[in-house]
This record gives sequence, structure tokens and C-alpha cells, in this order.
Amino acid sequence: MSDDWKPSTQAVHGGARRSQYGELSEAIFLTQGFVYDSAEAAEARFVEAGPDEFIYARYGNPTVAMFEDRIAMLEGAEDAFATASGMAAVSGALMAMLKAGDHVVASRALFGSCLYVLEEILTRYGVEVTFVDGTDLAQWEGAIRAGTRVVFFESISNPTLEVIDIEAVSKLAHKVGATVLVDNVFATPVFSRAFEQGADVVIYSATKHIDGQGRALGGVILGSREFIRKTVEPYMKHTGGSMSPFTAWVMLKGLETMSLRVNAQADSALALAEAFASHPKLARVIYPGHAGHSQHGLVARQMAKGGTVLSIDIQGGQAAAFRFLNALRVAKISNNLGDAKTIATHPATTTHQRLPQDQKDALGITPGLVRISVGIEDIADLKADMLGALEQV
Ligand SMILES: *Cc1c(COP(=O)(O)O)cnc(C)c1O
Repeated sequence: MSDDWKPSTQAVHGGARRSQYGELSEAIFLTQGFVYDSAEAAEARFVEAGPDEFIYARYGNPTVAMFEDRIAMLEGAEDAFATASGMAAVSGALMAMLKAGDHVVASRALFGSCLYVLEEILTRYGVEVTFVDGTDLAQWEGAIRAGTRVVFFESISNPTLEVIDIEAVSKLAHKVGATVLVDNVFATPVFSRAFEQGADVVIYSATKHIDGQGRALGGVILGSREFIRKTVEPYMKHTGGSMSPFTAWVMLKGLETMSLRVNAQADSALALAEAFASHPKLARVIYPGHAGHSQHGLVARQMAKGGTVLSIDIQGGQAAAFRFLNALRVAKISNNLGDAKTIATHPATTTHQRLPQDQKDALGITPGLVRISVGIEDIADLKADMLGALEQV
């Protein structure tokens, strides 16, 4: 293994640990505990465990360590901690860092559960949270102050796919010594170089593109060795949100094909955005990788491709959106994303149903909005499916 391999090579070989059998595919170590050669060896390991010495699966496990090392290598991070879900990663990173009296600035356009953690949970423990429009640098500048401990945002927002300028926001945060925590799910580990652009901590829901085949929940927190081992690990190993070895194996194998899948998905997403452009039944087509996206310059600077998700706003509101969804045959109605299967969601009545109308309006979640996570099916079938369903509207 070499540290200078390119990300797609790391995704296949990075972090591999082989047993005495020399297995080609990584082994699943379905064990919660480990046996010591002597009482003295047990004592020594509890004083300090080496990189291939494990104590208990909540603290670490060989299959989980392979996944952590592999994703850290391909992301260009010093270290990683794998978690039971994406939300265990988001809440774990925040809780591990914050204490009563700290101040957090976050963008308002967030995944529902991220919003709940910031708005309802952290505030209960005396953390003050200020929300801003993440695309407006003046609002970040106004909200970040001495005493701001963490700046948190999703680099591409869900479901309206607004892009946040990682470099510019990180500069503002670093001026006051705040830690920049980026939920990078929509950008994917394939297209984003968030660490190079200033992020201190990057989080993924592995449930999305890393598995990419709808099998398991998982998450990961990436950052400096010091941060992962001194801040994140003690919190996670004592509160219990660690990843299971079986899940780690699913995610390890997911990483091997992730770049192929995600590149194909992004190419198809762009092709669909082009097929949808100026369609008479659509009020808006939003795809960060399309030249018509309002932040196309920033997208081109920040990301290799526009991601695997696009959103369309169908003229005629909810009734029209439902007719479109019900006419789809290849794409499935579901709320996951990043999957090999194309998935369509109506955010206003599902993922964002809980939001009051004024917040839906502020976030651009209109009754006609449909979010499409593009899969790896043949693009001709996807185009025929989507354009045919629009005919039914
Ligand atoms: C899905 C998602 C999460 C949560 O991940 P889970 O694995 O479902 O817990 C967090 N943030 C974003 C942006 C997501 O899309």
C-alpha cells in the first residue's frame, strides 16, 4: 500500500489487512471481543493499544479499521471513525466537540435530522445555534463571532441543491478559530476535495453513495489524527454509536466500486438535466453540474462533477408532481439517495413534511418539486421513463 496512490486505487486496496490465510477479499471479523496471550498482554493493551491491537468492538475491530483506513486514504484525511449511521456521525462529531456556552453557526438548508440535532438537542445542553442562509457570505460573516466554536453546513443542500462555498466560509470560520464541519453527502467522496478547500472535519452518511446499493446504514467522521483519536473516539466508544463489523464489510466493498458508480450516475444526471432543460411542463430544473445552475462557477471550482441528484419543479403543483411520480416505471418512489437504482421523492409531503409552510417557502420546497437521485440504469431507459412520465402530467 502506498500513500501516493490515486483515490480510485486507494478505494480498492487502501487499508486492507490480511489474516494468515492471505484471503483476497477482506475478511469479516464478526467478533466483539479479542483474546490476549497473557494477563500482562491484556494489561499492556489497555494502557496503549497498537494499530492492529483491538480490545472490544465498540472501540474498534479489524474490519471496521479497514473501512476507516480506506476512506481516510481516498479522502486525503489523516484518520477516520466509522459510525452506526450518518446521523451517529453528525451528532457524535458535534457532541464530542461542544459544551454548554459554546456558539454554533449553521446553514438553514439542512437534512431534517441534522436540523433536529442542532435546533432541538444541542440547545437543550446550553449550546447557542445561529442559522444563516448558507449561500450568502455576508450572513456567515455577520453570524460568526469570537466564541463561535463550530461552523456546520451541508456542502450541497437537500433538496434544492444550493452549493456552499467551502473555501470562503472556512476562511471566515478560521479567523475566529472555529472548527469547520462539513456534511458532504451530496458532493460524494468522489467529486469533493473538502479538506483541501478548508474543511477541518468531513462527515458522510455511508448509507448513500458508499454502500450505494441500499443495504446498510452507516457513517464516518474524517479529520486530523489528533481530532479523531482525542476528541471523537472517546465520545463514540463510550456512547455506543460505533459501526458493526458486518456493516463495515458492506461499506468496504461499496468503496471499491463507488467511483465507477458515482461517475456514471453524475453523467446520467447531467444528461437528464439537459433533456429537461426548457421543457414546457417544468418551472425549474436544478442540477449543480449544469451550466444553467445559478452557482455554476462555484460548482466548477469546488467539485469535479455536479453530483448524482437533480431536482425538477413541475408546473401544476402537488397534483402534477404526484401524476409524474405515479407514471414512473424504471425509477422507484423512495427517499434514499446515491443508490444504484434511480429514486424519486416528493420532498414537500415526505422528507420535509414536518416543516411549517413559511420554512418550506424559504427553502424553495414548492408543491411541484421532485428530487431525483440518478442510478446506474441505461440512460436511454431513464430518459424515456422521465420524459414519458412528464407526458402523463
Ligand atoms: C442521509 C443523510 C444524513 C443521515 O444519514 P443516515 O445514514 O440516514 O443516518 C445526514 N446528512 C445528509 C445530507 C444526508 O443525506
